[in-house]
Amino acid sequence: MRLELPEPSLVVLVGAAGSGKSTLAARLLPSNAVLSSDAYRALISGDETNQGITRAAFAVLHRDLARRMAAGRTAAVDATNVTAFARQALVRRAAAAGVPAIAIVLALPPMLVLARNATRPGRIVPEAAVRRQLDDLDRSLRRGLDDEGFAEVHVLRSLDELDAVEIDWRR
Ligand code: GDP
Ligand code: MG
Repeated sequence: MRLELPEPSLVVLVGAAGSGKSTLAARLLPSNAVLSSDAYRALISGDETNQGITRAAFAVLHRDLARRMAAGRTAAVDATNVTAFARQALVRRAAAAGVPAIAIVLALPPMLVLARNATRPGRIVPEAAVRRQLDDLDRSLRRGLDDEGFAEVHVLRSLDELDAVEIDWRR
């Protein structure tokens, strides 16, 4: 599966913890394009798991994202983005910068996501939190992301699709 995406664009990754967002971003995008909420939590508090500074982490992430898009560079946001509220803030910033927002949704089977989260090296997110994220994602997909202002919405529903996806940049 090859996605032909405009350069620059804002790639909004959507998926619960453990769905493979960071792995996919590392494979498809240069590291300087990827703004990760966990990295901003670590930057601000020294702890990528610190949920108490979420607002501050996202404030700085959004500020840096606006700068990067104003510079005409492709950016990707590696955060769960499972609620319309979270996605709307990003879509608005992309529109303000005149950059198309592209959603890539990791909609893998919930059992697989929970298993990956539970067995991954390093940080394991509490299962209840992952279940809430999976519920939010399910609600989002039932409603559809089509009216949220994205130029394109791509939904990956299996490991095969996730492993096979590639990006061709169109300048
Ligand atoms: P995120 O929480 O959405 O950023 O998910 P990660 O990218 O951190 O991936 C969660 C876990 O799944 C990690 O242990 C990864 O090593 C594993 N993982 C992610 N992508 C793949 C994949 O394509 N194949 C396999 N086998 N494991 C993967
Ligand atoms: Mg991650």
